[in-house]
Amino acid sequence: MSEQQIHRAAANESPYPPPQAVRDAVAAASTRINRYPEVYPTELARAIAAHHGVPVEQVAVGAGGAGLIQQMLHLVARGRRRGEVLFAWRSFEGYPLIAEGMGVPVRRIPLRGHAHDLDAMARAVRRRTKLIFLGSPNNPTGTAIRQDELDRFLARVPRRVFVVLDEVYRDYATDPATADGLATLAGHPNLVVLRSFSKSYGLAGLRVGYAIGHPGPIAGLRGVTMPFLVPEVAQAAAIAALAVEPEYAARRRAIAAERDRVTRALRAAGIPVPDSEGNFVWLPLGERTAAFEATCRAEGLLVHAFPGEGARVSIGLPESNDLLLKVASSGTVAGP
Ligand SMILES: *Cc1c(COP(=O)(O)O)cnc(C)c1O
Repeated sequence: MSEQQIHRAAANESPYPPPQAVRDAVAAASTRINRYPEVYPTELARAIAAHHGVPVEQVAVGAGGAGLIQQMLHLVARGRRRGEVLFAWRSFEGYPLIAEGMGVPVRRIPLRGHAHDLDAMARAVRRRTKLIFLGSPNNPTGTAIRQDELDRFLARVPRRVFVVLDEVYRDYATDPATADGLATLAGHPNLVVLRSFSKSYGLAGLRVGYAIGHPGPIAGLRGVTMPFLVPEVAQAAAIAALAVEPEYAARRRAIAAERDRVTRALRAAGIPVPDSEGNFVWLPLGERTAAFEATCRAEGLLVHAFPGEGARVSIGLPESNDLLLKVASSGTVAGP
């Protein structure tokens, strides 16, 4: 058997190892793992607040974006009248997974042409609706919500309903029309912006995410945080990562350029890939999805298949992206 290199393109991870400054920070913090971290990661919250130019009262740090999604759902689930949560479908699998695990009822509003149908979502709001997740860019389709669409949507949704704009891929967006959650917070006390170090900074293994919003909902989120949630090594890595932002920005630009190259090539191969603003592309292959995934696997490329619908493929280094293009033009997926 020949040694085959495996290319991991199934979880939207960064293909780059951490910068030296981040590794050094982790190594230094590792000498103190016999000690508990701070009960709440104050220094990291301050670094995030400074990075985005917001007061620290507007930042809640959590165990990845997923941890904050769980905290948001916790706020919805408690109280005498349990609320329901709305989100588009298909969108992030974590929304129904975490909600259903907590017994929170969910309603899925179908995408229209791979993008959020915000009119349908606004119409779907009813009395028991307490929370709406909007992914922009959306996982797995890559489509982003435009600023004008978000503004119109927020004007229609009652203020008692929380809107979580999940921007964990926002730093990869290059279309200037893409909604900017942080710039939209003013005037929308029910808006909460979700960010994560997993996707923007390639720190998926350390589980650090954060939410930015008005002090009221942020205090609510902090009120349902586990003590000692974020290990000191993770805090140290995240703080060090923010300090080398230009290095990450250059990496994201390289990924976005590769994403656009791959999109053009896939379209040339006859696959109608929607515009992606994330670090991944969506191949709407329908019934051909399973065969495509198997062929990729045989080539050493791991992708995330949704059988019968499509495949989400993370953008990696050019070698990994070229493998995708090789499979896509091989005839396995050339379809009707
Ligand atoms: C990956 C992801 C998250 C959360 O990731 P964490 O690793 O928990 O920070 C949240 N939302 C979407 C849409 C994602 O793809």
